[in-house]
Amino acid sequence: MKDLVLKKLSTIPFGKDGQNIVSAGMVSNIVIQDGTKVVFSLTVPEDGGMEINELRNQAERVVSSIKEIETVLVVLTAEKEASAPEAKPVPKLPTKPDRKVGPDLRPVAGAIPGVKAVLAVASGKGGVGKSTTSTNIALGLRSLGLKVGLLDCDVYGPSIPRLMGITERPDIVDGRIKPMQQYGITVMSMGFLMDEEAPIIWRGPMVVSALMQMVREVDWGELDVLVLDMPPGTGDAQLTLAQQVPLAGAVIVSTPQDLALIDARKGLKMFKDVDVPIFGIIENMSTFICPHCGESSDIFGHGGAQQEAGKLGVMFMGAIPLHMDIRKFSDAGTPVVVAEPDGPHAKVYKQIAMKIGALLGEAD
Ligand code: ADP
Repeated sequence: MKDLVLKKLSTIPFGKDGQNIVSAGMVSNIVIQDGTKVVFSLTVPEDGGMEINELRNQAERVVSSIKEIETVLVVLTAEKEASAPEAKPVPKLPTKPDRKVGPDLRPVAGAIPGVKAVLAVASGKGGVGKSTTSTNIALGLRSLGLKVGLLDCDVYGPSIPRLMGITERPDIVDGRIKPMQQYGITVMSMGFLMDEEAPIIWRGPMVVSALMQMVREVDWGELDVLVLDMPPGTGDAQLTLAQQVPLAGAVIVSTPQDLALIDARKGLKMFKDVDVPIFGIIENMSTFICPHCGESSDIFGHGGAQQEAGKLGVMFMGAIPLHMDIRKFSDAGTPVVVAEPDGPHAKVYKQIAMKIGALLGEAD
């Protein structure tokens, strides 16, 4: 079967010297599961442009034409830097052999079937606690009785699998990825498909196409709200996501430091530019509460985000303290809203979730 797959793939020409994608060394890691599912890696050239999508489509098509094959997972890997470790392939989400393949990159924000509202949680830069906040807010929304999904869009450093304590990989049923279920919410992350030790070197267009597939081709089921843990920053990938996903609104996570607020302003501007309603700013790592004596101190300053929100005319959604327990529970894979649902930190997250729920028109 492997030979047959190679034979089919070698019909796809590449380059000017009569080469094909197999002889050019672009195909690797062919895995055949149950005799019906094929996973293989296609290493795309640095300057491939839109040709990448065409190559992927052709590769899917020729392999799908093999009678026994029901599902084709194309593993699209970027050309790696010389020093980069060997990366595990990232399976492209499956497509049924008979349907049109390739990502939908049209700049149209179409609704996601079954999903009532999409909320973006963004930050102007990394390390401000965006993923921790997304996770706990998603769980807070769930505690309001909503059906909640959480999509980790941070393909550079997906941390949701660790934060949610998920180590298994998702199933593929009828050619669609089944997201994971944990603590009552539906979760998907590129981290489920990647090797944490060997990160993929992503190039811009691939990030967007992989993310759009996760948004649209994952079987989300019926959801009241899908929370997107956005990639940190305000680059092209973020902008394209904000344009192409039908966002009901966005919240910006910021630390109290000024610098972060400057970054947060960029985040606000990005959503404003594409007409996404900004629900508000969340201040994370606000007051430090000593786990020993309970005394609070404002290590990073305090109130900066609140002042800034006032100046910018957006809602200040709340301040999450900098507390050891929040980090400890996150590291253990049991977010604080799950670990201590009636504790003081869960209360802060739930209050923010209530505001968001109200803005989404979902909370009673
Ligand atoms: P980002 O998604 O912005 O990169 P993370 O959510 O991964 O940030 O958080 C970065 C680190 O800070 C993690 O170790 C996390 O546990 C910790 N952290 C986040 N928020 C808090 C908080 N309020 N109190 C204590 N630690 C926090």
